[in-house]
Amino acid sequence: MRTVHTITQLRAELVPARRDGRSIGLVPTMGAFHDGHLSLMRAAREACDVVVVSLFVNPTQFNDPRDLELYPRDQRRDGELAAERGVDLLFTPEPGELYPAGFATTISVSGVTGELEGRHRGRSHFEGVATVVAKLLNIAGPDVAFFGQKDAQQAVVIRRMVADLDLPVEIRTCPTVRAADGLALSSRNVLLTNAQRAQATCLYGALRAVAAAVDGGEHDPQTALAAGRMELEQAGIEPEYLALVAADTLVPVAAVEGDLLVLVAAPVGATRLIDNLPIRAPRLGRSHADPEVATLSRAPTR
Ligand code: AMP
Repeated sequence: MRTVHTITQLRAELVPARRDGRSIGLVPTMGAFHDGHLSLMRAAREACDVVVVSLFVNPTQFNDPRDLELYPRDQRRDGELAAERGVDLLFTPEPGELYPAGFATTISVSGVTGELEGRHRGRSHFEGVATVVAKLLNIAGPDVAFFGQKDAQQAVVIRRMVADLDLPVEIRTCPTVRAADGLALSSRNVLLTNAQRAQATCLYGALRAVAAAVDGGEHDPQTALAAGRMELEQAGIEPEYLALVAADTLVPVAAVEGDLLVLVAAPVGATRLIDNLPIRAPRLGRSHADPEVATLSRAPTR
């Protein structure tokens, strides 16, 4: 694995791959690697000839300066883990490399950024994310870029940007990697005390409670969400949001049906955590007499 710090170096390293028609995979990260990051590297390694990982704690997406200051950093360990996972190139630019003096352009994706993280972290958060990801895509020119379902709204925002700007890259979203007790892995988890770490499992508990209500046939989103809110309350956690939305548009649903996402954000002590769970609910207004549903429950009759 080669570690490069400048845009010129990274582009030069990728010239032979591009010339030979080898596929390039990009995994954008902010470092402090855990198994979630490593799963994206594994997916990239399986799908692409050349794997590039970017490690950049992007200051423009932090709405809270203290969060940026406390964000865990361990570049040496990250380098070792990436090398073990067969990464070819680790791109670790300084802020001045990506945002030189005079930098004045921002990419703003509207619609899907308005609620959830966009509302709670402010407009600048997804502007920071979209702008840095657009830059990384332009710098590395990957065929495929890999993102985690853990940051579900981020993945939707990036897909929107890539579609709207006709960026020639395929976006793949990989499943959320969790600890044995269900807590979604996050670089921020190291900031939790033991007691907070135990308390934090209620986020996944809340998502599961909402999913269980939906599985149990609940059609009313508010009733399904109430089951999740109870889990959080019992653990003494006050969420910033717990929402049930359409998976593609992130718009809250009036009825529980189709491809949905239940999302949660909550502070656990001083650490803000997010998580989500995709849920597939049956379409309403279809009885078992419907041919599409009936075929699932009937043995072939020939
Ligand atoms: P970050 O370093 O937090 O910006 O994350 C880099 C990438 O890893 C993003 O695409 C995240 O969605 C993804 N990621 C973070 N945590 C997980 C996880 N637990 N499972 C899967 N992907 C993750």
